[in-house]
Amino acid sequence: MFIFYFLLWTFALYWIHRIGHKVPIISSYHLSHHSYVNHNEVYWHWNNLFLYNDNVRSTIDLWIMEVIPTFIFSYVFGCWYIFVFYYLWAAFLQERIEHNKNFNLPILTSGRWHLIHHKSPYNYGLFIPIWDIIFRTYRKL
Ligand SMILES: [Zn+2]
Ligand SMILES: [Zn+2]
Repeated sequence: MFIFYFLLWTFALYWIHRIGHKVPIISSYHLSHHSYVNHNEVYWHWNNLFLYNDNVRSTIDLWIMEVIPTFIFSYVFGCWYIFVFYYLWAAFLQERIEHNKNFNLPILTSGRWHLIHHKSPYNYGLFIPIWDIIFRTYRKL
C-alpha cells in the first residue's frame, strides 16, 4: 500500500509543482527558490527541523508546493506515514542533497538532476523521475 500512496502522492506533487510554475503568485515565490539556493555550500541547519529552508520566500514556496499539499494528502487518504516520510526527508536530508551538484543518482531526483529544473522547464518530480518520463518533461544530465 505504501507504494500505491507514494506514487499517487508524487503524482500530485509533480502536478502542483508544474501548475505552480504557471500561477502568478505561487510562481513568484517559487522562482525565488529557483534563484536563491545555496549551490556551493551544502549544509543542514537546525531550522530545517521546522521545515524552514534557505530564507522566508523559499520557505513559503516549500510550504505551498510540498508541506501543505502533503499534509492534506495524508489527511484525505488517512496515510500519515507519507507525511512522516516527507517530514524526515525535509527536516534532515533535503538541504543536503536536493541542490547538491555532487549528488548524482539517476533513479532519484535530487542533486544535479533537480538543478537542471532550476534553469529549464524539465525535471519537476520529487524523489523519483517517473512522472517526468510519462509526461515528457524528463531531461537527462
Ligand atoms: Zn520549479
Ligand atoms: Zn530546487
